[in-house]
Amino acid sequence: MIHLRNVRKKYFEQEQPALRGVTFRMKPGEFAFLVGPSGSGKSTLLRILHGEEAASSGIILVNNYDVTHLDRRQLPYYRRTVGMVYQDFRLISDRTVEENLAFAMRVIGAPDKEIRERVAEVLEQLELTGHRHKYPTELSGGEQQRVAVARAILNHPALVLADEPTGNLDPKLSYEVMKLFERINEDGTTVLVVTHEQSLVDQFHKRVIRLEEGKIIADKEGGSYQP
Ligand code: ADP
Repeated sequence: MIHLRNVRKKYFEQEQPALRGVTFRMKPGEFAFLVGPSGSGKSTLLRILHGEEAASSGIILVNNYDVTHLDRRQLPYYRRTVGMVYQDFRLISDRTVEENLAFAMRVIGAPDKEIRERVAEVLEQLELTGHRHKYPTELSGGEQQRVAVARAILNHPALVLADEPTGNLDPKLSYEVMKLFERINEDGTTVLVVTHEQSLVDQFHKRVIRLEEGKIIADKEGGSYQP
């Protein structure tokens, strides 16, 4: 669940704010694309939703957390409810696929048995079991992104955010990765994907939220990339 009201963000050294009063809601289990020109505030919005960046003002409620007023103690608990996928995968290069996943659960203090079971389950779910002993450099871009998606859903987040997740992939793999997000969404997870991929947005017929100059200028169910 996302509920943003009048969210503003001005970086310290900036003249024009990155976000100028952003208001929208996403119900649990919804899927939306977030589109807009470069510099319109998409990444800023995702970083705020992920608790990496504080808004300058406004109301931000996500997964029953008041994100604006999270203290240091609550932040790691909040972050567990949000999975994040990046354009450049961000896997740990000197660990195998299996170790990358196990690490993401170990840092939140999950017991070994639970880690073993859940990692095996997610590897299976994302058809990565055969790759579990490989290092990221031994995988194709599409496979690496599949591992990153596996890592994002390991801890059963209520919300998955993705920042240009197909930016480094060719069209066929991009489609497959977007299908993965759709599958995750069908399992009940809320999914918000930042993308520039016009053809994918048009193919998937999802809600499309368009940002321009820090403001939402369109928000449409079954929308297309072009406003
Ligand atoms: P998008 O993801 O749509 O390309 P961003 O959120 O990255 O947009 O950027 C929105 C605006 O905020 C831009 O003008 C950008 O230069 C600025 N910006 C982004 N991150 C920072 C930062 N860490 N410090 C200062 N300005 C930033």
